[in-house]
Amino acid sequence: MSHLLPPLHPVFVSSLPADSNLTNTSRSVEHAAYSFVAPAPTKYSKIICCNDVLAIQLGFSKTALASTDFADLISGNHLDSTMQPYAMNYGGHQFGQWAGQLGDGRAINLGQYKTKKNEGNEDSENRNDYVTLQLKGSGKTPYSRRADGMAVLRSSIREYLCSEAMFHLGIPTTRALSLILTGEEVIRDKLYDGRAAYEPCAIVARVSPSFLRFGSLQLPSTRGDLDLLKQTLEYSIKHDYPHLVPATGVIDKSVYLQWFSEVCERTAQLIVEWMRVGFVHGVLNTDNMSLIGETIDFGPYGWIDNFDLNWTPNTSDAGEKRYRFGQQGYIGQWNLFQLANAIYPLIDEAEPLQEIITSYTQIYQDKWLAMMRSKLGIPVQQTQENGALIESDVLLCKALEPLLSRVSTDMTLFYRHLANLNSDFDLHNTDLLTTHFSECFYNMEEITEDYLSILVEWLTKYQSRLLLASINDVARKEMMDNVNPCYILRNFQVQEAIELAENGDYSRVSILSELLKKPYQQQEQYKQFEMKRPDWAMNKFGCSALSCSS
Ligand code: AMP
Ligand code: MG
Repeated sequence: MSHLLPPLHPVFVSSLPADSNLTNTSRSVEHAAYSFVAPAPTKYSKIICCNDVLAIQLGFSKTALASTDFADLISGNHLDSTMQPYAMNYGGHQFGQWAGQLGDGRAINLGQYKTKKNEGNEDSENRNDYVTLQLKGSGKTPYSRRADGMAVLRSSIREYLCSEAMFHLGIPTTRALSLILTGEEVIRDKLYDGRAAYEPCAIVARVSPSFLRFGSLQLPSTRGDLDLLKQTLEYSIKHDYPHLVPATGVIDKSVYLQWFSEVCERTAQLIVEWMRVGFVHGVLNTDNMSLIGETIDFGPYGWIDNFDLNWTPNTSDAGEKRYRFGQQGYIGQWNLFQLANAIYPLIDEAEPLQEIITSYTQIYQDKWLAMMRSKLGIPVQQTQENGALIESDVLLCKALEPLLSRVSTDMTLFYRHLANLNSDFDLHNTDLLTTHFSECFYNMEEITEDYLSILVEWLTKYQSRLLLASINDVARKEMMDNVNPCYILRNFQVQEAIELAENGDYSRVSILSELLKKPYQQQEQYKQFEMKRPDWAMNKFGCSALSCSS
């Protein structure tokens, strides 16, 4: 079946040390970046979703995609004879506490391939041209601890749809190649209320240039294994940041620091992008932080319906709300601080690392302002930019936060409606103004005169800012609609798709995956998905809150 796939390029396994123990038992794995382990056979492999476009980009032919060999490959039942599947070893801080070794407890990497460089995409110059194909939910590994190595259908649908939604929103993310049902069932207590039940198992085949996490460096570092730490860091530099390798080929401390700066930069960029679209990751533990700045591990994530910086979808985080919407930027920095600690033994100087960590605050703020200006349709010419303008724009953007949270306001709909409000709109006409935004409000009773006066006050400042920018309404709408999605993966919509799928109807999963391919474009045939959360979904499991059970 080797004709199915492009040739393997196993650089990860050939560059880094393997676990010499080949038995598949839960244990502590030392001095090794990964363990060889085969996926568990499944009862069957029923394809629910296949991402044909991605598959072709990865080098699968159309004939290969239609073959049973393909279904067998993405369930892990029939691997190419040259494959040496492996699970990766890493640790992590979970909810602020060091958790020790975690590792791929239910993910198995099938192998690495070389793909064509994404020509015309500037960013791809700074990326490697390898991808790793990984199965999530394909059985126990040495890192499974006491868990079963399986993933249930509902969490796999959530991963498949969300990672693809993220990609089409233009946000760095791991990709999903396929989603299959395996015919197995496992017990899960999805509400953590003692009512455990059997659920169908599924496997998502996912793809990324690198599945290394912050925790991949933290684990060898906390164990004092400087050899493995150095090897892993240099692997990341050579393969994921090849532009940082000097012509001499000598990677020294200064390269480590440049690498760390770039990880900080990508992390800041990623989180700002999440803030743009209202994505709350939900479990920003350091084992879920990608070293290449991709969104990774779609667990109890959620999307903002009503704008609320304090919202977290994760019920395990309901008390502290560590991973709430408005704290993600800071958590990025907290996690980077742990990463800095991890590489410190190789640098032996705290100051340069501290400096980079500190600069994250400014980098994040600059990126945040640029993002908010784009959401508001405010172009800024280099010649106009100055301290006073920055300060007043920050105030204008910041003032939106209390405004949007004061009454329950749908974030996604608000920006689309703001784009449609002409800059010469008569703000004295509050009736018309209320009508214009009425679809964005969850409770019209909250729309009092007091509220309207604050809305008008903000809009007045916004109108004057637009005047200063001298941008016309058509150009502004175009600019805004390109960054403010019309469709996001609303929590209740994915939950509806899951409930249908659990009853054997996968059509909604397909519809959502189609719809989310063009998130910025209003699509007539999908008009019914352009809506705010209905009342029934307000306190329903899956729609407003999720557990980590997956
Ligand atoms: P997550 O919260 O999904 O990022 O997972 C945290 C850790 O738990 C990782 O090491 C996972 O591999 C592991 N894990 C989560 N679910 C399972 C499972 N069903 N079986 C084995 N390991 C798991
Ligand atoms: Mg994880």
